[in-house]
Amino acid sequence: MTTFAQLGLAPEILRALVAKGYENPTPIQAQAIPAAMQGRDILGAAQTGTGKTAGFALPLLHRLISSKVQLVRQRAPRALVLTPTRELAAQVEESFRTYGAYTGLASTVIFGGVGMGNQITALRQGVDIVIATPGRLLDHMQQRTVDLSKIDTLILDEADRMLDMGFLPSIKRVLAALPKQNRHTMLFSATFAPEIRELAKQFLRDPVEVQVAPQNCTTALVEHRMHPVDLDQKKDLLIDLLAKDSRIQSLIFTRTKHGADKLVKSLEVIGFKAAAIHGNKSQGARTRALADFKSGKVTHLVATDIAARGLDIKELPVVYNYDLPMIAEDYVHRIGRTGRAGSNGVAISLVAPEDHGLLRDIRNLTRRDLVLEPVAGFASTGKPIFTKPQMRQVRGPRTHGGGASSGQPQRSGAGAGAPRPVGATRPGSAGPGGFNRNRQSGAGGRAGAGAGAGGRAGGSGQRRSGS
Ligand code: AMP
Repeated sequence: MTTFAQLGLAPEILRALVAKGYENPTPIQAQAIPAAMQGRDILGAAQTGTGKTAGFALPLLHRLISSKVQLVRQRAPRALVLTPTRELAAQVEESFRTYGAYTGLASTVIFGGVGMGNQITALRQGVDIVIATPGRLLDHMQQRTVDLSKIDTLILDEADRMLDMGFLPSIKRVLAALPKQNRHTMLFSATFAPEIRELAKQFLRDPVEVQVAPQNCTTALVEHRMHPVDLDQKKDLLIDLLAKDSRIQSLIFTRTKHGADKLVKSLEVIGFKAAAIHGNKSQGARTRALADFKSGKVTHLVATDIAARGLDIKELPVVYNYDLPMIAEDYVHRIGRTGRAGSNGVAISLVAPEDHGLLRDIRNLTRRDLVLEPVAGFASTGKPIFTKPQMRQVRGPRTHGGGASSGQPQRSGAGAGAPRPVGATRPGSAGPGGFNRNRQSGAGGRAGAGAGAGGRAGGSGQRRSGS
């Protein structure tokens, strides 16, 4: 098995990897790092949990410290990473800080929802790498508080989600402002959907394609449970399931922001420690909710899709789909929050009669049976919704307390070894070895679109409203 040392990464980077306990590159890293170190553009299909962040961060850091320009710190950044959400931007920046701890390179994170002052100060002080959400970056461009004239590396992270969120026009405006000559570009997306290929055609030069899991395959060791339930019983069923072991942390997805808030209130009333994370929350509240969840202060984090995308939460044992997602691909992303980096996980979905079509889409996409298992006392009395001829019979009631799974656990080759807790920006301090980190800043959203705020304009088709 390849080691990081064999990839030829600079000693400063290897040192950080040793400190982190990483020995071997994950499959996506083994493919992407050598090609990126040679300066090849990369088109990568990899979901979070595969180690994709290091897949682009390590070669980028390597190239930056190998280039002489770094000796005299320029005011203008040389690398730009665009991400769809504030949380992902913060998380990616955290990774750069970790992996770059001994390189002397500096980064900053830029997103909306918070003031621009700290961001402007950080940019003025001079950074090598900017991690940004598109909306706020445009604000800085308009105010001429960021200089993109020296950017020679561009990374589009979770590009599919950026398109979904309607960021394509913003991305194009950012790209139009970057130097075109000899730009090194890496684009990562969960899938190579047609619109991603189109984007790649426009912005990448003869890219090397790297891919770790077949398109739309659900990753890692996830057991799927599908429980039929009537709409008016959903909340009670969830509480019943959660009460099994109230200490187990879970991420619970709802379709709408309002639904998330309502559910948090219901959970709090009966004594669960819950918090919501969605696009209508202030950035402070989002950061706090995530930090409290990671520290264990909050046991149940209720989230809409956009806010939760890309979060790397250590060993999350359970993900609940309180509402099925409107778009089948989101099921794959949601359950990607569990069963990460080689550990086991369970994805539990509550399926109302009205969700027949959504369930069918998810089955088609994941190519799994996803058999419905009623929970005793909560079986749906709604009109028959499970009538697809090829579906297996609904099994007898599950008495919850563990037991057999409805789906087959499956392993993907993409597991990344020990996961790490990451996430919300920490107060800006110099990392070990002086990786002058970012000042915390804020997230991409411009009205209604950025960083987890719900609306989407254009992009790749219609989407749900909640975020
Ligand atoms: P990502 O897909 O980039 O969000 O990474 C998923 C998780 O895998 C993070 O917690 C990383 O810190 C961790 N990770 C990344 N690369 C490795 C590696 N080579 N060995 C072990 N863990 C890793």
